[in-house]
Amino acid sequence: MMTHEVRVRIAPSPTGYLHVGTARTAVFNWLFARHNDGQFVVRIEDTDIERSKPELIEPIFAAMKWLGLDWDEEPIYQSKRMDRYKPYIEKLLAGGHAYRCFCTREELEEARKKAMAEKAPLQYSKKCRHLPDDQIAERLEKKMPFAVRLAIPEGETSYGDLVFGTITKQNTEIEDFVICRADGSAVYNMAVVIDDHEMGITHVIRGNDHISNTFKQVHIYRALGLDIPEFAHVPLILRPDKKKVSKRLGDKDVAEYGGEGILPEALFNFLCLLGWSPKDDREYLPRDELVKIFLLENVNKANPIFNEEKLLALNQEYIMKKPDHEIAAMVAPMLVAAGYTTKYWLETRWDYLMKIVNMLKVRCRRMTDFVAKSDYFFHSDFGYDPKAADKRFNGEGRQFLIDLVKRFEQMDDFKKEGIEGALDEVAEKLGVKRGKLIHPVRLAVSGVSEGPGLFDILEAIGKDETLKRIHKAIEFIESKGGQDAGENKEAGERNKRA
Ligand code: GLU
Repeated sequence: MMTHEVRVRIAPSPTGYLHVGTARTAVFNWLFARHNDGQFVVRIEDTDIERSKPELIEPIFAAMKWLGLDWDEEPIYQSKRMDRYKPYIEKLLAGGHAYRCFCTREELEEARKKAMAEKAPLQYSKKCRHLPDDQIAERLEKKMPFAVRLAIPEGETSYGDLVFGTITKQNTEIEDFVICRADGSAVYNMAVVIDDHEMGITHVIRGNDHISNTFKQVHIYRALGLDIPEFAHVPLILRPDKKKVSKRLGDKDVAEYGGEGILPEALFNFLCLLGWSPKDDREYLPRDELVKIFLLENVNKANPIFNEEKLLALNQEYIMKKPDHEIAAMVAPMLVAAGYTTKYWLETRWDYLMKIVNMLKVRCRRMTDFVAKSDYFFHSDFGYDPKAADKRFNGEGRQFLIDLVKRFEQMDDFKKEGIEGALDEVAEKLGVKRGKLIHPVRLAVSGVSEGPGLFDILEAIGKDETLKRIHKAIEFIESKGGQDAGENKEAGERNKRA
């Protein structure tokens, strides 16, 4: 446990969605705060006014809430803080740590082209760094526009990164960068330093693409005489083709994963494993456990690859461990939205839904699979899988179904043990293995050749429905050419949902 209070932040730009990379960095910040009894805050970096629209910001909050990333204070909006940077810029100017640069855009562009042609470093020439006071006064008098640049001292700069250790850079590699534009607005590096300072941020945990910014920011902190926070630069998430994950390349954002049936707790666990590991081989690590064991020391330097298979495997594990009633409550509106049933029907048949959930649980990698795999529990107007129908719905299959119907009709108590016994009895009488009967019955009652235990399905849908569906299958076989219906051409029209 740290002795001083930990305060960390996530600083998304308004994009209209929560990028998985930002979400993963938010997960690290959140876990670090919770592990240390510290605070996690949000800062919206919306200085680009065009982007400061609620519809570009709200989805970020919504996705964070969905992931369970609760923040401890009202979010800060950079756009509302524009005036706060000015006194610091004045202080830097007054202290000689910054200077006014009167170079025009054209001059800078020309210098850049020349440097490129000469293969020289593309840095600012420091032309205005040593302008005599009278010249500065004269230009100010003429109201010539100017930007403000930080005067980088000679020597080298080091900072201790909690992930990368001490990193050192020669100051010749850091240009006298602009901290304030000619329109008076502070640039990103300036705003971040002041915001982090005023927000009391103790640890800056962000993507390693910000390391070069950190050197610049360290110079601002030093020039202003401010305490420098700890920095931890975490690895970037890569696609299997080693490119950075990006919406532009078709990668999904957090809300899309939710829509595709990924549980928030599974995504949270998965994101945490992107660039961090518990240093043993565990992967299923629920949130509470992660809060206990999360250490920045265990963040890796190497950029991790986003492996969607692993996400699905974890999701399945979370589905398996979730109580049936919780899954039922989540699945019910999905079934209604899919048009399988109504809210009212489900409310009076909750036990039926619970049975379905319990049966399908082991077979669902996504929450949406509960919908895709359950339609025959709500409808009997499905078609038959053509391949399975070709194989099972022939003369022999028809006879098996007829014998089974006769036996099932005699049953009063239609429970799975009894159904199983009855099917075994028929199989024995016919001198065939039980599998020979199970397959055509499964196809008759569900339209597909795989699914939960057949006897569970039959008990759940009940005797009347079972008999009705088997009769329908017998008729189907007969309509296809009776006893030796080898082909089921029309079966190809089967309902795709089944
Ligand atoms: N808005 C920056 C980003 O999204 C935040 C950088 C930082 O955390 O300082 O990359």
